[in-house]
Amino acid sequence: MSTIAWIGLGHMGVPMSSHLVAAGHTVRGFDIDPACLQAGSARGVTPVRSVAEALEGAEACFTSLPMPRHVRGVYDGPDGIWAHADGRTLLMDTSTVDVATSRWCHEESATRGFGFVDAPVSGGTAGAEAHTLTFMLGGRPADVERAHAYVAPMAGSVIPCGSGGAGIAAKLVNNMMLFVSMMGVAEGSQLAEHLGLDASVFWNVANVSSGQSWPQRTWYPVPGVVATAAANHNFDAGFSVDLARKDCSLAVQAGQETGVHLPAAALALSQLDQLVEEGLGGKDCTLVTKLASPDGTLRGWTP
Ligand code: NAD
Repeated sequence: MSTIAWIGLGHMGVPMSSHLVAAGHTVRGFDIDPACLQAGSARGVTPVRSVAEALEGAEACFTSLPMPRHVRGVYDGPDGIWAHADGRTLLMDTSTVDVATSRWCHEESATRGFGFVDAPVSGGTAGAEAHTLTFMLGGRPADVERAHAYVAPMAGSVIPCGSGGAGIAAKLVNNMMLFVSMMGVAEGSQLAEHLGLDASVFWNVANVSSGQSWPQRTWYPVPGVVATAAANHNFDAGFSVDLARKDCSLAVQAGQETGVHLPAAALALSQLDQLVEEGLGGKDCTLVTKLASPDGTLRGWTP
């Protein structure tokens, strides 16, 4: 069994790292937020006070951080990962970042003699808890093979996607599809409500019909229908509006760079922007559902 450093014990980092603990690894966890450190500690992670301390004796290091700038900051500089990891430490970033940031991590890691793998995940906090995440891996084949063994206790599927940055590219495309799909579920759920359908009955219909989708199965935005939906707890974030907005904007940006037309993704992004403008960036991204409501009210939502 290995010693593993884990940087970023948030909504994803805590359940993910807890599965490495359950698999018998020693996980040394660091987060700048003491409450997150405490949450990790409650799930068996050894809490430490710096990136440097987390890396002591670590064969592998995971990052699970909010934005590209956090990833760049945690890798670079005198207090960062590159300054404190040793050459055998395999570096894996599970954060969702832009392709350029991921390639920068690859290039800078290679220059310094480290193996780096972009290892973004799909499946949300529910998949993190259930250790059924899909991992999309990008990097040199030998590093990807090593990464496979480390991510296995957290994963339902592990898919090598290609060279450095390929994992994150797959992730951005996947999430763009998710948010476009979520708009359909949001609007469908409200149309069903306002046509007088019982929410669970309609969900049962969609679930075995052509309206079925991942957000329909997992995030259906009406309380009391699926246990994993944020609608059951006033849209507290499983996957926040802020993070969804980040992913969607990175996909729209990739569309602009490649010339691919993405009108549905642009609409999804504008809805997430609207929630941010309303001060709801910290709530769950399924709150886009309120934009479909005739009067802005929503079952399960108390502003
Ligand atoms: P989060 O904001 O809950 O957790 C991120 C953690 O990083 C926070 O606890 C924060 O305090 C910590 N952090 C920030 N800067 C730090 C630093 N310099 N040093 C140490 N810790 C630092 O976010 P999350 O929902 O856990 O998501 C993490 C990443 O995974 C994001 O990139 C997100 O896009 C991606 N992701 C999230 C989901 C989801 O459903 N939440 C799903 C797939 C991918």
